[in-house]
Amino acid sequence: MKPKVLTIAGSDSSGGAGIQGDLKTIHSFGAYGLCAVTAVTAQNSKGVSGVWPIDGEAIYSQIMNLFEDIKIDAVKIGMLGNLCVLKGVVRALEEIKSSPEGLPPVVLDPVLVSSSGYNLLEPEGIEFFIKKLIPLSTVITPNLPEAQLLSGELMDYSDSVKKGIESIFNLGCANVILKGGHREGKLAEDLLYDGDTFKSFSEERILSKEVHGTGCIFSSAVAANLAIGRSLEESVSAAKKHITEVIYHSEQISREPENRVCYGVFPF
Ligand code: ADP
Repeated sequence: MKPKVLTIAGSDSSGGAGIQGDLKTIHSFGAYGLCAVTAVTAQNSKGVSGVWPIDGEAIYSQIMNLFEDIKIDAVKIGMLGNLCVLKGVVRALEEIKSSPEGLPPVVLDPVLVSSSGYNLLEPEGIEFFIKKLIPLSTVITPNLPEAQLLSGELMDYSDSVKKGIESIFNLGCANVILKGGHREGKLAEDLLYDGDTFKSFSEERILSKEVHGTGCIFSSAVAANLAIGRSLEESVSAAKKHITEVIYHSEQISREPENRVCYGVFPF
């Protein structure tokens, strides 16, 4: 039987990130992808023009219906949209956790800051996210701005990067991966912290391309590998190799040649 991965995320009408990017990624690792949609977005390669979160009951019901029927081997959580949706997700996951089968590994991508720098959850939502959702997850995968928001650290030099990661770990997540896309340097370095040691995963930084959805693809690749039965370290290593290949082979999809935003194209 194929391993099953549930993605709880927003729909990206342009197909590169969110639910669509996650399902393609999960499929490319040979697993079966299921989804619970948190929000519908209207977007293209030029930007997001609208976000419509669904109601809390609808997200709760999607998740519970899947778990009632299907053995799910890993969960990935991406954009939530608002506090109501977040509460629906937490309610569902807490019920599943206290069921006899329990909760499979949960990869939490804290989509809290938009690419243009706006906070995507109201302050009350961020508080609830930290208190209730982080403790339910196996690993959290912030990028630099999200890590700064969660840790309150500037994370601008190597000691403060480690201090920031430790503060996020202390919020109650079993493992933290700081993604390296927004950091500087010749290498795109991701750091995994398990409360004991830091492990570094580095690949060459590709500067010639600006790629949509890298964070979603990376975290769903981690979830797919955990579902297959790999260790967290093996899963991060496989996800890192995968995202580097995706960026390398990505293509521009707009009909406007001057638009430089590229998309992952599967299979490559
Ligand atoms: P997000 O999309 O959430 O901001 P990031 O872009 O920081 O996430 O990181 C997603 C993954 O893509 C990480 O593994 C990161 O190291 C990798 N990555 C991002 N940009 C590049 C790049 N230019 N070259 C190589 N790897 C990259």
